[in-house]
Amino acid sequence: MPKFRKYEQKIRKYKEKLKKLVTRIGISYSEEFELVDDELKKLILPCHLGILFYADFDAKLFRQIESYLNQIFDSYFFEIINLGQYNFSKELLSKGVKKEYKEMKGINDKLSIHPTNKFYQSLIDIRTKDRLGMIIALTDLPIYSSSDDNILFLFGETHLKHRCSVVSTLKLKEQFYDRQKDNELFEQRVIKEIIHEIGHILMGFTHCEENSCVMRFSKNIDEIDKKSYYLCEICKIKLYKIRKDFNF
Ligand SMILES: [Zn+2]
Ligand SMILES: [Zn+2]
Repeated sequence: MPKFRKYEQKIRKYKEKLKKLVTRIGISYSEEFELVDDELKKLILPCHLGILFYADFDAKLFRQIESYLNQIFDSYFFEIINLGQYNFSKELLSKGVKKEYKEMKGINDKLSIHPTNKFYQSLIDIRTKDRLGMIIALTDLPIYSSSDDNILFLFGETHLKHRCSVVSTLKLKEQFYDRQKDNELFEQRVIKEIIHEIGHILMGFTHCEENSCVMRFSKNIDEIDKKSYYLCEICKIKLYKIRKDFNF
């Protein structure tokens, strides 16, 4: 009955597609969002940067992030604004969720992972409303890439066109690896990942090859720990050129 099996397969595929579509209603499916107004479409530097928290983070963490960002990107921001805590509505929270095991199958319970588009959608709204040049969100929820469903448990992602980023803290915690809590290490990782994503908004998608450079791609936590907070000389030159283009 090969013919029947073929149909069965087809129906199963459609069912999968439909299921995906239904769980995503209410969040943008593609990478294209409603465009913000003209003035905010163009990157103008220096600008205002907003940081939004999708979880209850210590206020001390914001001040640390702010201090490092000001150190690394010195005059790029007029102001770094703490946008406070934001929560998805219960309905939106369930949208686009994928259930996946955090590591080895069967050993742990499945976690609910959220698509990055869900964050971008609200970040773009807030960026427009508050007239910010760029915006970054910190969340303790696990995230997957909306542009590639197979990239799960991301550290962070940036939507270049709309100048917004999201960083997930889940895998930056020692507890995720069943190790003892280490707040200092956690904060270092959060700061590095935020600097990295802001670096993408300013300098584009390319990663740096230099070992200690914060713009180096990290595929795991060890690689984040190995790199520094800082930009290498090559990236500094890139940044300097941007500054020159904007005359500041
Ligand atoms: Zn990157
Ligand atoms: Zn570099």
